[in-house]
Amino acid sequence: MYKQNFKIILSFLFILLSNFIFSQKKFTIVLDAGHGGSDHGANRSYNDIGRVAEKDITLAIVLKLGNMLEKNKDFKVIYTRKIDEYPSLSDRTNLANRSKADLFVSVHCNASGRSGPYGTETYVQGPDQNDTNLEVAKRENDVIYLDEKDKQTFGSYDPSSPESLIALKLQQSKYLESSLLLGGFVENNFVNKDKRFSRGVFQKNLHVLRMNAMPSVLIETGFINHPEESHYLASDKGQEEIASSIYDAIISYKKAVDRKSGGSIAIKKPEPEKPTELPLKNDFRILLMSSPMKFNDGDPALKGLNYILQIKENGQYKYYYGVTNMASVRDINLKTAKDAGFRNAFAVGFMPNQKLSTGYYTIELHAGEKLNGNSPILLAYKNAERNKENGVFYYTYGKVYTLEDAVKLQKEIEAKGIKNTVIQKVYK
Ligand SMILES: [Zn+2]
Repeated sequence: MYKQNFKIILSFLFILLSNFIFSQKKFTIVLDAGHGGSDHGANRSYNDIGRVAEKDITLAIVLKLGNMLEKNKDFKVIYTRKIDEYPSLSDRTNLANRSKADLFVSVHCNASGRSGPYGTETYVQGPDQNDTNLEVAKRENDVIYLDEKDKQTFGSYDPSSPESLIALKLQQSKYLESSLLLGGFVENNFVNKDKRFSRGVFQKNLHVLRMNAMPSVLIETGFINHPEESHYLASDKGQEEIASSIYDAIISYKKAVDRKSGGSIAIKKPEPEKPTELPLKNDFRILLMSSPMKFNDGDPALKGLNYILQIKENGQYKYYYGVTNMASVRDINLKTAKDAGFRNAFAVGFMPNQKLSTGYYTIELHAGEKLNGNSPILLAYKNAERNKENGVFYYTYGKVYTLEDAVKLQKEIEAKGIKNTVIQKVYK
């Protein structure tokens, strides 16, 4: 009797365990072939190969890529379309959000009014960087206005619906770093494997990137109006190479993500022992830029980066990104800053808890117009120090001697609802 029970329990445990192992969540990728149906995307006609339409090329590449991914049992592939039809942009992002995908890859082809440009580009969500890429936004977003369903979606957009709220809240910059990582792998493979010309990884405000609650990239695989490149895009060899380069980039990306999260049980392999990295003596922050202008969180000038510490010194605001005492993280932070567009960023060492001997830190509560007595800042800090310089009113509060204490003080002030303050270094 006892033995019998034990056997039952044992087999029950076995079922539980195998369920656990085999139901390990697969890595879900949504593949989005740009355009389709009545929306042809960019297209050109050539004497030898006839009409080349973006919607056909994107579908061919996506189906090839999907085939490669489906052969790998780590992946679950969802297509926004598998035939020549046009799902709206909202249909595409809703599908991705509903299926709680881990990655969204949108495939497109470029076109230019001029015949010169060629090469590949990858876009990740972010503030528009410059006007030269405006054409891409126009072309890839335009479709929204052609589509009745989208008009309704945008017209009756309900910010309280959990789906839109989640997508909107999370899109800000949570996925920027992962998206940049994948974008970098894709462009590198185009260059190194396929010997193509990469125009780079850019940030752009595009619907299919903005509305997704997961890392997302939009790949412009080449220019349809460039004679040589369009022949490559239309060829089976070209499509195969592009699909394979994106596939390899996804594999590298997943490896990097698994490493970060400790890997999943189903695919765990014994890894060679790595020497443990020792912390450095200094903390490192990445100096993005110095400017006489003050930019608050979310300002396009900060190119979508978060975790920015501003320190004002001699009238200049210095913008520092991230903080770490590990060399490997410092290098990743620097790369992230450069990829985001801060080409001249560099790492600066800070000795932890170092006391200033030639001055102190204070918190700049406000710079700008004169505050009146019942402004929230003056209500909370009646004895804030006031200064006026060149017609600008400055209000500062507190006196501490280490950067760590200044950060602490700034947090206390923020807890009282006073945002966008700046740590200021004052020399005696
Ligand atoms: Zn397109």
